[in-house]
Amino acid sequence: MSTSILVINCGSSSIKYALISERPQDRIHGLAENLGSAEARIKGITIGGQPLDLAIPHANHEQALDVLLQRLSKYKPQAIGHRVVHGGKLTKAERLTPEIIKTIRAAVPLAPLHNPAHLIGIDATMRLFPDLPQVAVFDTAFHQTMPAHAYRYALPQFLYTEHNVRRYGFHGTSHAYVSQKAGELTGQIDQGGWLTAHLGNGSSTCAIWNGKSVDTSMGMTPLEGVVMGTRSGDIDPSIHQYLATNLGWDLHKIDHMLNRESGLLGLSNLSNDMRTLIEASEQGHEDAALAIEVFSYRLAKSLAALSCGLPTLQGLIFTGGIGENSAHIREKTVAYLPHFGFALDLQKNTQLPRGQEGRIDQGQGPQIWVIPTDEEGRIAKETIEVIQQNKQ
Ligand code: ADP
Repeated sequence: MSTSILVINCGSSSIKYALISERPQDRIHGLAENLGSAEARIKGITIGGQPLDLAIPHANHEQALDVLLQRLSKYKPQAIGHRVVHGGKLTKAERLTPEIIKTIRAAVPLAPLHNPAHLIGIDATMRLFPDLPQVAVFDTAFHQTMPAHAYRYALPQFLYTEHNVRRYGFHGTSHAYVSQKAGELTGQIDQGGWLTAHLGNGSSTCAIWNGKSVDTSMGMTPLEGVVMGTRSGDIDPSIHQYLATNLGWDLHKIDHMLNRESGLLGLSNLSNDMRTLIEASEQGHEDAALAIEVFSYRLAKSLAALSCGLPTLQGLIFTGGIGENSAHIREKTVAYLPHFGFALDLQKNTQLPRGQEGRIDQGQGPQIWVIPTDEEGRIAKETIEVIQQNKQ
């Protein structure tokens, strides 16, 4: 195998991994899922496209990584790239040093669902591959090009200047990847304005002008913005005061509710999983139907708001598990944007093969694309760049 980079994306209940080399056909990738439960297992594709399905009952993050890293060490990766959601003040991908790890730890309060899991992954890979260069690629970095009028909150100035209270934005790796891919597909790299909708368990939107993020829906933490699987997205901040005064809730309880019990799960009282909600709503589950409606309407509202950052609009890109796979959500979202001249091709929308990119508009008005994200590929690319810069 040629030069290869091991990419680790350690999430709250799963670990995505990929071994990425110069030859796309050599890519190994997979997912350790249901961690901490009896159903924990590693599912993936090994060299030559062979499927891997390995039960690892009750394995936690660290144990799953141990199994994974032992299996992958035979391919001798040249470096490891870690996806890290929040880089605090860090503005670009960085080689991991004790100082950088300290900064990632200091940012835990800003991304309590993600950074602790990333640190477990970093600890494990440092232990198992002490001699390999390791790089952290931050979801926040792509959004560092936002102008102040997009990243500042209308709060007292000292909270920004002395305490870094500002909007950072997340999913930068994905927004960067799909917008660049759209540039390649249209032959107009880093030109014009794109709106991107990354829709997974966490979801966000982004406005990109000439290849640079100019605004995004997530803020200081990944809680702000559109409706997500279990996260509320935007709410009136005075709800905190109301819950504290009238229900006696403390901040910890409110934060838990907003991050883990809200969003699609909270609205439907059924599930955080869009597939489950679509199936339930087709069978007449009214709360599932409402959750889908709120999700689509708020998503469209966010895209319309972000369009203010773009002098002209070339098109809209859907990505992430929901954006790539749900024709229903794409149709509903575009229908809630009646003033932009979008003309969705209903047939192309529903018939786009799973996992493939494609243009799904009628060829008039702003373009509409589905582009499967490749956060792992982008992390590998940035990892190589950091290591080459360090060598110079
Ligand atoms: P994560 O943010 O954890 O990476 P994903 O990008 O994998 O998540 O997206 C997960 C979401 O995608 C889930 O809500 C899942 O139901 C949804 N999803 C996957 N396939 C489909 C589908 N065919 N139709 C609707 N939603 C889907």
